[in-house]
Amino acid sequence: MPEPFYITTPIYYVNDVPHIGHAYTTVAADAAARYRRMMGSEVFFLTGTDEHGQKVETSAAEQGVSPKALADRVVTRFQKLWEVLNISHDDFIRTTDARHQEAVQTLWRTVAEKGDIYLGEYEDWYCTPCETFLTALQLQEGTCPDCGREPEQLKEESYFFRMSRYEQRLLAHLEAHPEFIQPESRRNEILQFVRGGLKDLSISRTTFSWGIPVPGNDRHVIYVWFDALTNYLSALGYPSRTERFGAFWPADVHVIGKDILRFHAVYWPTFLMAAELPLPRQVFSHGWWTVDGEKMSKSKGNVVDPVEMVRRYGADPFRYFLLREVPFGLDGDFSEKAMVGRFNADLANDLGNVFSRVTAMLDKYCEGIVPRADTSGDLAVQAERAVQRVDEEMERLAFHKALQEIWGLINGINRYVDQKAPWALARETSRRAELDGAMASLMEALRVVTLLVSPFMPVTAEQAAAVLGLQEGWCSREGLRWGASLTGAEIAKAKPLFPRIDTAETPGREPKQPGAAAAKQTEQITLQEFNRLDLRTGVIREAEAVAKSERLLKLLVDLGEAGSRQVVAGIAEVYAPDDVIGKTVVVLCNLKPAKLMGIESQGMILAVEGENGLSLVGLDRPVLPGGKIH
Ligand SMILES: [Zn+2]
Repeated sequence: MPEPFYITTPIYYVNDVPHIGHAYTTVAADAAARYRRMMGSEVFFLTGTDEHGQKVETSAAEQGVSPKALADRVVTRFQKLWEVLNISHDDFIRTTDARHQEAVQTLWRTVAEKGDIYLGEYEDWYCTPCETFLTALQLQEGTCPDCGREPEQLKEESYFFRMSRYEQRLLAHLEAHPEFIQPESRRNEILQFVRGGLKDLSISRTTFSWGIPVPGNDRHVIYVWFDALTNYLSALGYPSRTERFGAFWPADVHVIGKDILRFHAVYWPTFLMAAELPLPRQVFSHGWWTVDGEKMSKSKGNVVDPVEMVRRYGADPFRYFLLREVPFGLDGDFSEKAMVGRFNADLANDLGNVFSRVTAMLDKYCEGIVPRADTSGDLAVQAERAVQRVDEEMERLAFHKALQEIWGLINGINRYVDQKAPWALARETSRRAELDGAMASLMEALRVVTLLVSPFMPVTAEQAAAVLGLQEGWCSREGLRWGASLTGAEIAKAKPLFPRIDTAETPGREPKQPGAAAAKQTEQITLQEFNRLDLRTGVIREAEAVAKSERLLKLLVDLGEAGSRQVVAGIAEVYAPDDVIGKTVVVLCNLKPAKLMGIESQGMILAVEGENGLSLVGLDRPVLPGGKIH
């Protein structure tokens, strides 16, 4: 039986308007949670809202309502978004829940009894919008380093947590557990910060009252981060040692944005050390999104509304895009153009097309019934390898890599169709067994793909499962095993899973139905204009992958008498370097040189986006390199 799995998102500030950042964290945690459930783990997936603090108190006063009434009204924005995005959380905690208040006060008392809380005087800077205390050193030209606003100077009575006492222990923990903070770059930041020395931390306030009172001193409310972080315990039933608590604490991973790493990687573990509770196994900090290359901000008006994205493209494509576009842990850029590009290339062309292609052939050659046949062979090996690799990538939350592996299998299915050519097998009755074997293998591969995509695109997976006639409980570890599980199943006619989006439309319109994308009127040119293109045949002599790029290959192309030149081509997702060496291709030689990933490209290789993905333009008989195309 696999280990139980406890995964959390941060609790979001209730008064915030949900944006792409909130959606990103939560979708990522959801995909991880769904994957673990499929693999048989008992999963506890927690999200919620942080509802205390000065900002909520002030907003509520402005609106003439109580802070709780304000929170009750605005919390639904998050709850609705998670519904829209099909988030499968097991609990939604609010810091105004009675269960949470009790947990926070107990944690406080436990730490105080240890002698780690004392009353002192706080004199420093505080950024109210960020709810962050700042030292004079952290200020940048007198403003908050995170939001650029001017912080307030504070001098007030405050309780302090003896964080300094845990400096060495935290450092030892960080050093002994490299996996504790991921990715590595973030871990280094924290190591550096802790090595710089930990000061005691102010953990109470007297300047506002909307918070959890300090036990035994009602004039103070507990600092929002001491309050908020405790949610990871209170949702499990802490301080009671419930069964849930026993099964799930310590958490396997806290998924967070990098802006709140210090609270999770420094404050939280030291609070837990003081309370003598085990530390979470991992804090994974992901990057930030820019929008069309610019920082997202309310003033620029470029904040991406996830609800609107779901309305335009559907929940699954949006989820897919977020997890596929950017390695988890790095910063990324969101644009609707990129989103539509992925939709058409990966979802409509690859995934959607392979389903309709294979099920249409099953219909045609096997009357829609999966034949009983031997399914061992190439495709079985590929599928088993994909399942294994996806597992490794999901283990380290490398969602984009897991998706690449799945798409590798999808490409493999398309190649298998081309190799086996079922239409040719169907013409010869003597090859019936071969045809049956190919069709049964293809259907089995579609079944495996359905399971593999389900954590990322749960609705699409359900639709695909319905087409394949999969029975209840199909989404399981057992189901990932290659076998003749579909034998005899009658397959429903597949509707396209992802009708293409017509890119001639401006983004923002409703997706069009397929077929509506009529051929665009293209501008006419003269022969002279065509002759300006120096198109020649070339033979690829060398090819290598470009570091840090999934798409690019660096090629050395032999152009015969015209010499040879270096071309960087965006074909790596379809062609391995070894696949292209020796191939004759068509090169546009007089394209202005450009730098791609810092490498100069002196020309362009022609390719076409076909129904089975990208294909290099070739020639139908051998031609020497350097031949002019006209
Ligand atoms: Zn700030």
